[in-house]
Amino acid sequence: MTHDNHKRLVIPGPVEVRREILEAQTAWMIGHRTTAFADLYARLQAKLKQAFLTQYRVFVSGSSGTGLWEGASRNCIRDGQKALHLTGGAFSEKWAEVSRLNGKEVDVLPVEWGKAHTPEMVADALRRGGHYDAVCFVHNETSTGVTNPVRDISAVIHELDPDALVLVDTVSGFLGAELRTDEWGLDIALTSSQKAFALPPGIAFAAVSDRVLERANQVTNRGYYFDFIELDALAQKNNTPSTPPIALMYAADKQLDDIMAEGLENRWARHLHMRDLTITWADTRGMGLYAQEGYRSPTVTTVANGRNINVDDMAKFMSGKGFSMDKGYGKIKGKTFRIAHMGDMTVSTLEEVLAGLDEFLGV
Ligand SMILES: *Cc1c(COP(=O)(O)O)cnc(C)c1O
Repeated sequence: MTHDNHKRLVIPGPVEVRREILEAQTAWMIGHRTTAFADLYARLQAKLKQAFLTQYRVFVSGSSGTGLWEGASRNCIRDGQKALHLTGGAFSEKWAEVSRLNGKEVDVLPVEWGKAHTPEMVADALRRGGHYDAVCFVHNETSTGVTNPVRDISAVIHELDPDALVLVDTVSGFLGAELRTDEWGLDIALTSSQKAFALPPGIAFAAVSDRVLERANQVTNRGYYFDFIELDALAQKNNTPSTPPIALMYAADKQLDDIMAEGLENRWARHLHMRDLTITWADTRGMGLYAQEGYRSPTVTTVANGRNINVDDMAKFMSGKGFSMDKGYGKIKGKTFRIAHMGDMTVSTLEEVLAGLDEFLGV
C-alpha cells in the first residue's frame, strides 16, 4: 500500500480506517441492477438495522452526511410549517442553515458552544413555539465535544408536540456513543461513514421511520436526489435510485461484521473508557476541558488548552510521532484542540497519543 509515512488519524473525521476494511473495497465491481447487488444490499440492510436498533429501514446514500441533512429537512417540513433547530456548535448551526437554504422556516434554540441542550430547555421552547413539523438536533456536536441527552429530549418532544418528527444527526456519535433509534423514538437518525463508523468517506446512512414517509407524502417539493419516497420505493427492491457507492458498501458490509463481533454495548463501553482516559489526562495536565461536565463526548474530547500551548507546534511534534492531530474547529481553533477517540481506535493507541502529548508538554 502507498503512503509509507502514513500518519495515523487522531482527527475527528475522517478517522483511521483499518487495512482489512480498505481492502474490502477492492473486490470486483458488480452492476447495481443485478441479483448479486440485491444480495449485498439486503445483507447490509439487515446489519444496518441491527446497528441502528431499528425495525424500520436504513437508507444508503451516495453522499456525505450533509446530503442527508438536506434530505431530512426537505422531506419532513411541509410548506407553511416550521422546524425547531437546537444549535450549540458548528454542525448544529450548519444544519439550521441547510433547512433555511431549502426554503424552510426555522426557529432556533441556541445554547452557548460547549453546553448541552437539556430536555427542560426544549420543553420551554416547545411551549412557546406552537407546533413544529420537525425538531432537529445533533447527538454529538463534533466541534465542541458535547453529547446531547437524545433520549430525554426526544421524550419531551413526543409528549409536548406529538406530531413533530424527531430528527437526529448522529454523524460522530453512531457506533461510538449509545443510540437506540426505535426505543428512543427517533424518526430519523442520520450518519456518515468516516466518523465512529470508521469507514472511508463518501457513503451515508439514515434510519427512517414510517412517520417520516407519511410526512414526506404530504410535502410537494422533496427535490430529486434525496427524495425519501423514491429511495424507499427502490429500497423495497434492495436497490437505490441512482448508482450507489458499491466499493464503500463492501467496506460497510465487512465493518458491520466486525462491529457486531465486538458487540454494540462493548463498543460503546470502549469509547466511554477512552473518553475517561482523555478527560483525566486533560485535567491532570492542567489543560482543562471545553465541554460541560456531564455531557462530555465518548468519541471526541475538546481540550481547553489551559496551558496555552501553540497548537501548530503540538501538531508538528505529534506528526513526528506518526499522528495527525486536530487544532480546533472554527471560531474555537487554537483556544481548543480536539482529541478524537472514535471508531476502531484502541486504548493502547490512545495511550500512545497521550504519552506523545506529555512529551510535547515536557511533563
Ligand atoms: C462531520 C459532521 C457532519 C458533516 O458530515 P459530512 O459527512 O462531512 O457531510 C455533520 N454533523 C456532524 C455532527 C459531524 O461531525
